[in-house]
Amino acid sequence: MKEAQRMEHSERYLEILKYVKEGVYFVDTSRTITFWNDWAENITGFSAPEVIGRHCYANILNHIDEKGTHLCIGGCPLHRTMEDGQERTASVFLHHKDGNRVAVNVRTFPVYEKGTCLGAVELFSQEKPVPQLAGDLITIEDLRVLAMTDQLTGLGNRRFIESALLEKLTQLKEFKTGFGVAMVDIDHFKTVNDTYGHDIGDLALQTISRSLENALGSDDRIGRWGGEEFLVLINSEEAASIVQTIERMRILVEHSSVKRGTLDRVCTVSIGAVLVQRPMEKETIIQAADQLMYQSKQKGRNQTHFATLP
Ligand code: GH3
Ligand code: MG
Ligand code: MG
Repeated sequence: MKEAQRMEHSERYLEILKYVKEGVYFVDTSRTITFWNDWAENITGFSAPEVIGRHCYANILNHIDEKGTHLCIGGCPLHRTMEDGQERTASVFLHHKDGNRVAVNVRTFPVYEKGTCLGAVELFSQEKPVPQLAGDLITIEDLRVLAMTDQLTGLGNRRFIESALLEKLTQLKEFKTGFGVAMVDIDHFKTVNDTYGHDIGDLALQTISRSLENALGSDDRIGRWGGEEFLVLINSEEAASIVQTIERMRILVEHSSVKRGTLDRVCTVSIGAVLVQRPMEKETIIQAADQLMYQSKQKGRNQTHFATLP
């Protein structure tokens, strides 16, 4: 194939990749981003002009794993793929332009031409796309969802999470399936409001909400319980996996930041969680989770405490 024809083909492929409904980007061997498609912007908030020509490790996407380890230093799947030519898959939490963390599944492939490595491509997709109302036609189901949604954060509201908890308790009575309940409270939130204003406080609530929901599995549930408190139902009967989930929530919030103009402020949360194994009043469960959350506050905040309820 003639060189000009080959170039034309490559450009056509890139044009097609622009519209793929999966984030796609290329890096060259120096890990400079050379291509960034529309869906990558959709997931991360960063547009192509903002990232092309920059290094993938230059504080843009900042992939971390669930323990908060920065993968750009030492664990970059793109870098490893270029070194050994192996395809890779990973579940990572990338940094959204708004400051929150997004859960994505990543696949990396090496790109070769005539036996020489030109770089690598990363494909990434969101585990949980944000549900959206379909078109102009509002259905009864849409209205039901709206009535159960907190307008500021987009999470379920108190009514939603309370009825989800009651449903879990009914299932526990019938099938003896235990579950976790966590109370999450933002640390020193009054200071955030007092220092930066109520609007930034609202923005912090939104950013933290995104990171919290990205820490959860598809069968877990979260709702805004009150001002800066969230109630989470964790679909597991095992103490270790409940602890893993609440730690993941804490770590993802700690690795998020509230951004506006030059402001780049990290907030943290304190969490208390219980494993419920027998039917009991919902108030008893919430009170227990609340007390453990309070222990996390007393021990210095940005902590988690867990107990199995007798
Ligand atoms: P702690 O670490 O002990 O939890 O301290 P805190 O400052 O977070 O706790 P406190 O309960 O004193 O403050 C909660 C603050 O949350 C007070 C209230 O103004 C603020 N708040 C509640 N709802 C909203 C909201 O919708 N938007 C904003 N911006 N602030 C809110
Ligand atoms: Mg509070
Ligand atoms: Mg608080």
